[in-house]
Amino acid sequence: MTSNRATVCLTFDFDAISIWIGPYAATSPSMISRGEFGVVGVERILRLLDHHGLPATFFVTGHTADTYPDAVRAIAAAGHEIGHHGYLHENPAALDPGQERAVLLRGFEALDRAAGVRPVGYRSPAWDNSPRTVELLLEHGFSYESSLMGKDYEPYWCRVGDVIQADGPYLFGPEVDLVELPVSWMLDDFPHFEYIRLANRLSPGLSAASKVEEIWRDEFDYMYRDTPGGVLTLTMHPQVIGRGHRMLMLERVVDHVAGHDGVRFATLATVAEEFRAAHPRPGS
Ligand SMILES: [Zn+2]
Repeated sequence: MTSNRATVCLTFDFDAISIWIGPYAATSPSMISRGEFGVVGVERILRLLDHHGLPATFFVTGHTADTYPDAVRAIAAAGHEIGHHGYLHENPAALDPGQERAVLLRGFEALDRAAGVRPVGYRSPAWDNSPRTVELLLEHGFSYESSLMGKDYEPYWCRVGDVIQADGPYLFGPEVDLVELPVSWMLDDFPHFEYIRLANRLSPGLSAASKVEEIWRDEFDYMYRDTPGGVLTLTMHPQVIGRGHRMLMLERVVDHVAGHDGVRFATLATVAEEFRAAHPRPGS
């Protein structure tokens, strides 16, 4: 497709076991096995993408790359983009500067070991960034990051040096040479679907796929009608979307999108490159 009235980015966060033994500190074999299911999900997703000829972006934790190198190699071999997603799904906001840097480097090393890739994109686990994350990503040559929510259908430049004030206006720091490809919890399969019961928390999840389908389709329809050239980024997890009835839902969403004129699917790396080509770099 040559025209570009709308772009949809299918992104998959391949957390596998790391999200359970990392943030959730799981030792239960049952809880851990929820992450094992991610490999089943990846196989199904790769078949769907191949069948429809779609490119996608997979954010892979270093721990996943070390645990399931064959699955990560299969993703790369199919031509999909692989992005950085921490090592053990660490929340950067909870790390000190030395830890945050070490986790970034461990992630690079694991992705290189498994599939020989050097990512240009970063998605923060938990979608939290520390006050240092953007500068760290700049230092390591990233093109984009995808964890913020300041817009919905438009990429924008990240900032550094924002000042949080409770007794005056919020002060915005300068834009920097890192593209933001924004996300949203409602466009993320995890909170809709995952049932998590902890001592101090219950996430009910287990939504009907039809509810999520309605939200995702209507987000696309509004963007298609009102924001020409818009970009819609869906965030999915192989261990979540890979369940049978949800795969059927994803197929329906793909068919709905593909049925519109001038729509294409693209990787986040492609969208970031196009944004860079169309906008002057901050500070230049
Ligand atoms: Zn994740």
